[in-house]
Amino acid sequence: MIKALYLDDMQLKEFEAEVTSVKDGKYVVLNQTAFYPKSGGIANDEGTLTRGSEVFNVVYVGKFGGAISHEVDKEGLQVGDKVTGTLNWDRRYHLMRFHTAAHVLSGAFYKNLGAKITGNDIATLDQGRIDFNLEHFDRSLIEEQVENSNKIIQEDHPVDVYYLERSDVEKDPDLVKLAMGIPKGIKTIRIVDIKGFDRQPDGGCHIQSLKEIGKISIKKLVNKGKNNRRLYFTIE
Ligand SMILES: [Zn+2]
Repeated sequence: MIKALYLDDMQLKEFEAEVTSVKDGKYVVLNQTAFYPKSGGIANDEGTLTRGSEVFNVVYVGKFGGAISHEVDKEGLQVGDKVTGTLNWDRRYHLMRFHTAAHVLSGAFYKNLGAKITGNDIATLDQGRIDFNLEHFDRSLIEEQVENSNKIIQEDHPVDVYYLERSDVEKDPDLVKLAMGIPKGIKTIRIVDIKGFDRQPDGGCHIQSLKEIGKISIKKLVNKGKNNRRLYFTIE
């Protein structure tokens, strides 16, 4: 069972934990963690695990076989060790701003053009990418949605995270389609709610209020063929 502290406290920068397994000397599982593992098109957190005065840099975090595994830069951690985990907060905060910005863009594309997001990639700190199924590759239409997104950001809607019962999600016309891909065994679904604008089932980390994003700008638009458009964006 993963005890993923970031799900309920996205502002948590430091935490205490115990090492529960170590594989090949460098892949460390903890009894709880605030490190976000690479998933859902969003890059992993980085930071450190500290034991006493010894610092292990966390260079990658992934989900493997239901556990969150922290890859550290050197061997030495042992099962039972007590560690302090510390996130590289600049990196995490930046990724959260990008992730919430991607939700604003997807909300604007869907509401105003009926276009659905087919993929996203927030892998680097200087750009994000979303793919969407807009019928015609119309630059001005896409630029207009980025402008609309920036207006929504200026309105500074709060971002809320909560859980809903699956049966309630399935009755909700806005959420049901998005929830279809979630395994049937999952009975409560985490919702990220940009108040008054967009709600989605989501397992990632977000900022608390839209103004934290700043401003979205287009880096590049790519026509990926039938129905598939790609937007590279940045925030400043
Ligand atoms: Zn998301």
